[in-house]
Amino acid sequence: RAKRAAGNAVRYYEPSMDEGRRARSALAMELRHAVEREELELHYQPQLDLRTGAVTGYEALLRWRHRERGLVSPSEFIPIAEETGLIVPIGEWVLRTACADAAGWNVTHRVAVNIAAAQLAQTDIAGDIHEILLSCGLSAARLELEITEASLIEDQARTLHVIRRLKALGVTIAMDDFGTGYSSLSTLQVFPFDKVKMDRSFIENVTTNAVSAAIVKATILLADSLGMSVVAEGVERQEQADFLRAEGCREAQGFLYGRPRPMSEHHLLLCG
Ligand code: C2E
Ligand code: MG
Ligand code: MG
Ligand code: MG
Repeated sequence: RAKRAAGNAVRYYEPSMDEGRRARSALAMELRHAVEREELELHYQPQLDLRTGAVTGYEALLRWRHRERGLVSPSEFIPIAEETGLIVPIGEWVLRTACADAAGWNVTHRVAVNIAAAQLAQTDIAGDIHEILLSCGLSAARLELEITEASLIEDQARTLHVIRRLKALGVTIAMDDFGTGYSSLSTLQVFPFDKVKMDRSFIENVTTNAVSAAIVKATILLADSLGMSVVAEGVERQEQADFLRAEGCREAQGFLYGRPRPMSEHHLLLCG
């Protein structure tokens, strides 16, 4: 069983390819039960005000604590959840859990929740969120939704309507991974975002690469002139934070300030 690949090389299907596929479908089956088995959990990563150093919010990041595999990272299972449609019930669990958690914090920080394309397209997400906020007793002003540009490609009219309803509730809408999509600028023109999250790939080289620096500076100015706030993700080093602060970026998130961890561990920091 040989397949002629691009160029003249002949590639052989390795048994491991089938194993890879089997492993994925096994993972998909187990993911189906992960919610009911209570194997999903949320870790939280702080976002800070660069001028004051105060925490402004926490991003909820999903983790799957698998009985045998241990902690499975979202990059492994979110794609499977998206392919299988499981992202819809899982995403609803994330929203409910994050809102319930935030309602119980002894501080009034925001909570940022990642929303998948299918949640925007297939569910009445504005209605669901309205109900979740009421049942948790969480003020809409404390909820921020992170939407990637890729999830805005399909059915723009419907998505725009959904985003307007969410904004009318008082929820903040952020464009996640800004700058990595096909048409970041035209997306800004169509959708009324409150906030842009500059992708980690730009922040990574911001003090060493003139192009990254120019993109980051321009993004901060652009967001500012559109009346949107801007947050930098993936800040790992002090020089990056200093650069961002000097250029007028208000908020940052990254390992420099804290890794995603269970909220109980942040709580100790807040109270200590
Ligand atoms: P994202 O929303 O862009 O989240 C930021 C990712 O960058 C997180 O990875 C976070 O741990 C990582 N990160 C934060 N600061 C740093 C840093 O300073 N350096 C480096 N190297 N990485 C940093 P994570 O938790 O593995 O999540 C990966 C992606 O999975 C997320 O990217 C998001 O797209 C997706 N995801 C996570 N939770 C959910 C969820 O509940 N629902 C949906 N639909 N997607 C989720
Ligand atoms: Mg995010
Ligand atoms: Mg991001
Ligand atoms: Mg990202």
